[in-house]
Amino acid sequence: MRDEAFWAAATAAAVDADAADPLAGARALFHIPERLVYLDGNSLGPMPHASAREIDRAVRQEWAEGLISSWTDADWFALPTMYGDMLAPVIGADDGEVVVCDTTSTNIYKTLHAALALRPDRRVIVAEGGSFPTDLYVIEGVLASRPDVASRLEGRDGADLLDLIDEDVAVVLVNQVDYRSGRKRDLVEVTERAHAAGALVIWDLCHSAGVMEVGLNAAGADMAVGCTYKYLNGGPGAPSFVFAARRHLDAIRQPLSGWWGHAAPFRFDQSYAPDPGIRKFLCGTQGILSFRALKPALEMLGEYDLGDIRAKSVALTELFIRLVDETCSEYGVTLMSPRATEERGSQVALRHPEAYASVQALIARGVVGDFRMPDVMRFGFAPLYICHVDVVRAVRILEEVLADELWREPKYQVRAAVT
Ligand SMILES: *Cc1c(COP(=O)(O)O)cnc(C)c1O
Repeated sequence: MRDEAFWAAATAAAVDADAADPLAGARALFHIPERLVYLDGNSLGPMPHASAREIDRAVRQEWAEGLISSWTDADWFALPTMYGDMLAPVIGADDGEVVVCDTTSTNIYKTLHAALALRPDRRVIVAEGGSFPTDLYVIEGVLASRPDVASRLEGRDGADLLDLIDEDVAVVLVNQVDYRSGRKRDLVEVTERAHAAGALVIWDLCHSAGVMEVGLNAAGADMAVGCTYKYLNGGPGAPSFVFAARRHLDAIRQPLSGWWGHAAPFRFDQSYAPDPGIRKFLCGTQGILSFRALKPALEMLGEYDLGDIRAKSVALTELFIRLVDETCSEYGVTLMSPRATEERGSQVALRHPEAYASVQALIARGVVGDFRMPDVMRFGFAPLYICHVDVVRAVRILEEVLADELWREPKYQVRAAVT
């Protein structure tokens, strides 16, 4: 184990870096439990203080007092597109191209069908075999309703996603940042390669929205989906979002043709006519209380520069990797995430044979990361509330867990229902 002097020097350098941090003020906007180093914001972001106030207002005034009139007076009906417009600059989209609604899984289903319908003469969906499982399960669901369509998966049908894209491919569903390894794809390169073959791309931004400049329109992206409860801090079960480039909006049809996506929902027509704009991605009534928790986080992101956010994210992940290299590599830890900064998102994944129990031992000591099958410890670094000192503390405790084999304690070996 490294001595006290090593950690004192690392802490002093971290204190200096935090003093020069342009985002330092943001942490006070969140409720972070005392003495917790929360490196799981890529699973569930912490609560902005303002979210509790928003929910309180939505419940006590808008619901309790306003009742049905709040659909108009509190803009409930307009929230999906209002919040979509607030989110648009965060992902490099324009007004009217983003709608907040439903879950990421549902929105993948809608956009995949929409993309297949835009390329009627093509029969293949390309995706990553190592993708977050819901993306793969939803593809299976789409294939069940489209027996003429097949999937090609990276890792199963070829080693590299780009090699799977040819003239038969209608759509590529791809994560900007891999949920497990933290590998970051080049949004421009993949989009260009797909377009060169005449295919469309749906970007899954679950692990990138909020921690980097995404630049959808700059890359000429077609469609995108993502969730808002990870780095966008919208709270458990917060709604997802859908982006569709304006040039596609007219032609897009999505299969969940519910009344909220109708051109005139309150005409109560007997047949469906889609809204001409991004609202056509809506299906039914939205969870307004969950929406309200998201608003302060979207307002907050508008106050900060995404370049600063990415720069700090890079600094935090680099510091973490360097300290882990220096203190933990002799205990069987290996780096799963890419070493090259431009190929890495805002998380670092480490492999260790006792990853599950080690994560439990870390959590018991106030360092919250998470475990992913089969042997991955995953740590997310959200620049708005994680500071350099947190990183030093986390690695120091990780070194202790590994060096003293604290993971051996039987209680850390018991698997919880949610990991
Ligand atoms: C978190 C995540 C999801 C979540 O889907 P839900 O429908 O919101 O549960 C989907 N895809 C990816 C890549 C994710 O990281």
